[in-house]
Amino acid sequence: MTEIQALIKNWYLENKRDLPWRRTKNPYYIWLSEVILQQTRVAQGKSYFERFVKKYPKIEGLASASEQEVLSMWQGLGYYSRARNLHTTAKYIVKELNSVFPSKHTEILALKGVGEYTAAAIASFAFDQVYAVLDGNVYRVLSRIFNLAIPIDTSEGKKQFIFLANELLDKIQPALFNQAIMEFGALQCVPGKPNCEICTLNIYCEAFKNNTITSLPAKKGKPKIRNRYFVYFVYLDENRETVRLRKKTENDIWKNMFEFPKIEFESVEQMDEFLSDNKNKIRTISTLYKHILSHQHLYAKFIVFSDSLFLNSPDVIEIPVLILNEYPLPRLMERYLEQNRTIFSHQP
Ligand code: SF4
Repeated sequence: MTEIQALIKNWYLENKRDLPWRRTKNPYYIWLSEVILQQTRVAQGKSYFERFVKKYPKIEGLASASEQEVLSMWQGLGYYSRARNLHTTAKYIVKELNSVFPSKHTEILALKGVGEYTAAAIASFAFDQVYAVLDGNVYRVLSRIFNLAIPIDTSEGKKQFIFLANELLDKIQPALFNQAIMEFGALQCVPGKPNCEICTLNIYCEAFKNNTITSLPAKKGKPKIRNRYFVYFVYLDENRETVRLRKKTENDIWKNMFEFPKIEFESVEQMDEFLSDNKNKIRTISTLYKHILSHQHLYAKFIVFSDSLFLNSPDVIEIPVLILNEYPLPRLMERYLEQNRTIFSHQP
């Protein structure tokens, strides 16, 4: 650990960029820079930081500005909630804390718009407190050096990375080390394919040895949701005594269950276009049903239809309405049937 620590610090001292917020210990400036950099690249953030510091050299100036002025200073950075939080917090510090920026980690963390990462950054950069920062760059560096493949977007993954970050943190120079590991991730251990051949850490780097660099850090990610749009055709005979069903044999959801014949569309617009083109043949149309499955969101409309489309398909069967419930039906169809009983009541 200490060799890795020393190498990262040495690399930083030789390669660091000269950035204005690194030349100060003023917590107000450090906080300002961190809020600006939350969703902004360093090159763009730098000019905004300099403009803010010039216009509001002290927190009192920011606090007494109008919200409109702060928002227009922020223009171009996006995510305007950051600007509003900045303004609210400046007013809070001036009014409630006598313009003294809090130095305790818990108090910093309680400020509006300040999360775990920003609180650790302010506590260490401004007050030299022993808090490890953990941003995207640090996750990447740690996951690669230690070849840690646990997904960073899981609570267990976060726990392990927090532990590791604190283990590796230089307890004597936390500010310097935090800056160093973040800069190392931003400039050397970059996403994709870093230049590992010239990396000062390559003899210690487990991902380099195991050729796992491009798959780290691992992410579980959200399952991709597929949206599907169905129009179900309800074929009732004149007396509403029989209805048509089709057994699902294809490899898809609800295999081997029964459903009304249907057409699937790519989008809700396509579906609506079809319905509009065929409105003369539609006797009743349901509202739009939304049905959520683990990886699919289904949007469906049911139409009582008077055209012969599907009627000659060999896999479509005619069954008495009275025994409809004896067939295995998807929950989506059951919902429709429960809410539209009158459509299926027998007409003598
Ligand atoms: S050897 Fe490559 S993957 Fe490992 S720390 Fe260096 S740049 Fe990152």
